[in-house]
Amino acid sequence: MGTVVVRCAVTGLDFSVGIETDEYSFVTLPDLRLKARCPHCRSDHEWSPRQARLRMDSMTGPLRGPFSAPGISPEG
Ligand SMILES: [Zn+2]
Repeated sequence: MGTVVVRCAVTGLDFSVGIETDEYSFVTLPDLRLKARCPHCRSDHEWSPRQARLRMDSMTGPLRGPFSAPGISPEG
């Protein structure tokens, strides 16, 4: 899963539009015109999925799986 972010035209900073989706759903979004409240300049920006990006939240949560099992060493 990831968060859909767009760039504020005023400050040049990215901000989330409040939509969480996966990569497949994101690239299949139609070319809509949407509005999102920008937390940087506090105004509404019009955006479309064409100019948005998907920021994967890879830093949230353990994604390593069971591959790093403790106690296994090549010694012996
Ligand atoms: Zn803005």
